[in-house]
Amino acid sequence: MGLMQQSPLLISSLLDHAERHHGDSEIVSRRIEGDIHRYHWRDASRRARQVAEALNAWQLPLSARVATLAWNGYRHLELYFGVSGSGRVLHTINPRLHPDQITWIVNHASDQVLCFDLTFLPLVHAIYEKCKTVRHYVALCDRNQLPADCTIEGLISYEDWIGNQSASYHWPQFDENAASSLCYTSGTTGNPKAVMYSHRSTLLHAYGAALPDSMALSARDSVLPVVPMFHVNAWGLPYTAALTGSKLVFPGNALDGQSVYQLMEQEAVTFAAGVPTVWQLLLNHLEREGLRFSSLKRTVIGGAACPPAMIDTFYEQHGVEVIHAWGMTETSPLGSLCTPKNKTLMRATNEQVKLRCKQGRALFGVDFKIVDDDGCELQWDGKTFGDLYVKGSWVIREYFEAEDQSPLVDGWFPTGDVATIDADGYLQITDRSKDVIKSGGEWISSIEIENIAMAHPSVQSAACIAVKHPKWDERPIVVVVGKPEATLDRNQLLQFFEGKVAKWQIPDDVVFVKSIPLGATGKMLKAKVREMSEVLAYC
Ligand code: ADP
Repeated sequence: MGLMQQSPLLISSLLDHAERHHGDSEIVSRRIEGDIHRYHWRDASRRARQVAEALNAWQLPLSARVATLAWNGYRHLELYFGVSGSGRVLHTINPRLHPDQITWIVNHASDQVLCFDLTFLPLVHAIYEKCKTVRHYVALCDRNQLPADCTIEGLISYEDWIGNQSASYHWPQFDENAASSLCYTSGTTGNPKAVMYSHRSTLLHAYGAALPDSMALSARDSVLPVVPMFHVNAWGLPYTAALTGSKLVFPGNALDGQSVYQLMEQEAVTFAAGVPTVWQLLLNHLEREGLRFSSLKRTVIGGAACPPAMIDTFYEQHGVEVIHAWGMTETSPLGSLCTPKNKTLMRATNEQVKLRCKQGRALFGVDFKIVDDDGCELQWDGKTFGDLYVKGSWVIREYFEAEDQSPLVDGWFPTGDVATIDADGYLQITDRSKDVIKSGGEWISSIEIENIAMAHPSVQSAACIAVKHPKWDERPIVVVVGKPEATLDRNQLLQFFEGKVAKWQIPDDVVFVKSIPLGATGKMLKAKVREMSEVLAYC
């Protein structure tokens, strides 16, 4: 056997490291009151220990679930470390879900504590009588901000709850495979499913995320997670920032273009991460006001296909590198990130531009394969597409409290995505399997059609869906939201597709709508698009 020390990979060790080695690195939060709160990693560490003591005072057992309904901010960060570090499980709930779905999730997780930002007080009011397992409610505020007329029994303010606790707590040591946090999938493909991360999976994911060909985070970065802390742990950024000692900047609930831009400039943000819909708001603001980024160097965009037009705008107009990433709740979430290899840097510019639009290469710790309908592995030629399967140290083995068997097939997790992989290992998602359009036996990628439509200067957003066809079985149509004041008609847009895809792949028609329904994580809800009256009228 090797003769090296063994220290378990625990989330508390990240915070200890940040405190000892980057104690004076800043954490800046825009609060829901609108003001800016500043402190440092050493303060976050002290207060996270107070959270742990406060949970001990309630005699909350190990592995008990502590839920949050909260924006990105310093108190949420303290809960991230205080709850998991003390051996309990942090359950971040997406407040944009329907209240019935949230109630279902709270009961399914058997949450015992619910901590929430005051923005969500009406939501908590609406659900608390149906949340049978919750014993304690904590409002993330000072005592004087607690509403006088609140009927939630035993509601306590966060500052009162942790204020008198000792900060000399020592983080317990336990098995690194213990549960650390719980996230539910957003349920775009059915009922939400619960993914239970471990300390080990979270730490390995944080190491992987920090690597140069991933997010390349360092102690020189100022990091803005626009992706919410209730969406797959903000892609692990709170953990990776502690590991690297980066400055963290939290936007609270002010996610409009102007507020995000102002915060980025004020806090000299060098790295930001979010889904394409949020970046669209930011880019629109910059375009309208004629602004430029002065500090931003790179941004990770993922969670949904990033339109090539967006990648181009970031590069060409702002000199910002876009790292297109793919992942899912079940993969913690990082699976792949698109950064060049040395040999790809030697290629012609247009080849490199094409490459940047792919979802990238697997990180060490994750492996990919694509398979056909019989489960046979397909070749990596960048053309052959099949069902994407993944496995690795931070990929799900089974869902928490699920009725079904483990989802794995021969040790691999079937993602439900359809993809190609090229000879250099670059993944390209062509569709979710349920969104694939099958026309005359041939597949059409809805993402490819959407990307082309989005490249038209008059198009704000686009969703491509299949409609039934007597001869071809299915044909694509494109549902489009035009840019304000833009004039665009059906024929102009259809002409725009010519030469960009094969003739038979050009959509049959264009349906103009005012907005495209988005889900709780900012992704297009294609099922809802299919039910829109304008679309039904077409069918
Ligand atoms: P849900 O599965 O409930 O929508 P997730 O946030 O886990 O919630 O979504 C994961 C899915 O999002 C992936 O399976 C994939 O379909 C899609 N996705 C994530 N990143 C990308 C990307 N860069 N390009 C295309 N699709 C993506």
